[in-house]
Amino acid sequence: MIFAVDGGGTTFKTCLVNEVGDLTHLESFRVDTARGIPGLRDPLMDIFRRRFSDLEGTGDALEAVGIGCRGVVDPVNNRLVDDPGVLKFMNGHGFDEIIETDLPIRLQNDAVAAAMGEKRFGIGREIKNFVLFTLGTGLGGGLVMGGELVRRSTEMGHYPVNPEGVRCQCGNIGCVETEFSAGAFERRIDEVNETREAGDAIRDTRHLFKLARGDDAGARAILDRGVYFLARAISGYANSLDPDRLVLSGGISLAGEFLLSRIVEELRPILWRRDPEQFVVLSRLGAQMGLYGAGAVGMDAVNGT
Ligand SMILES: [Zn+2]
Repeated sequence: MIFAVDGGGTTFKTCLVNEVGDLTHLESFRVDTARGIPGLRDPLMDIFRRRFSDLEGTGDALEAVGIGCRGVVDPVNNRLVDDPGVLKFMNGHGFDEIIETDLPIRLQNDAVAAAMGEKRFGIGREIKNFVLFTLGTGLGGGLVMGGELVRRSTEMGHYPVNPEGVRCQCGNIGCVETEFSAGAFERRIDEVNETREAGDAIRDTRHLFKLARGDDAGARAILDRGVYFLARAISGYANSLDPDRLVLSGGISLAGEFLLSRIVEELRPILWRRDPEQFVVLSRLGAQMGLYGAGAVGMDAVNGT
């Protein structure tokens, strides 16, 4: 049994995950970032201790802690190297400072963890070669080939698609993350809102999708532009790596068929030797993809891989 921790932002999700991917004891908390490390450690340790007592006498035992966390991580030392955002108080610190236990602890970047979760519990049960994109605040992902995670494939979002785009945090111009991510959409929303009446403003990415499903031409234009560039990155990875599937994961992928059908249409003329309807699929793990990912990260620690 794995204690899984999904740290994608100020809200951390936790649960227990067993070998076959049953999630139980789901519990979330908000990190009090103003308190720094204790603002994360205190609520997390409280939940961790309760899970230990929950398992007493059940015959199940905790074997490892698996963590998926935003930012650049050092998985060898379980350390958060660089998060420019809400978890920056953790930069340079290890998760062994946060969770006091003799169990093995394993940390991964949340996008890589999502690929590991999909490999173990999702589409990877049938498909051995796939690229996974996490569509969220940023755009991340991972590459699974021959049933194994390619461990250096961590920066899928920095595929350049628009030479006339904006500068990315990596230093380059027009990476796909700067065109298709909640961060990218919110930048476009701010621009478009300048020309909209105050009562008609687009509030955020969720609202953008809601309006785009309706008849709002401004919202549609933002989404269509993002899809145009996302499709170019998908086509590039497809042609160069020859995976069997491209899996869409992350919060934005929960827009489901509405988003998928637009991507498929954009891909039709630019995807070589493939049917985009077969090639691009949604993650099977739904809204709890991060916890499946963290569970898979912990399973690897138990299995020594
Ligand atoms: Zn970049």
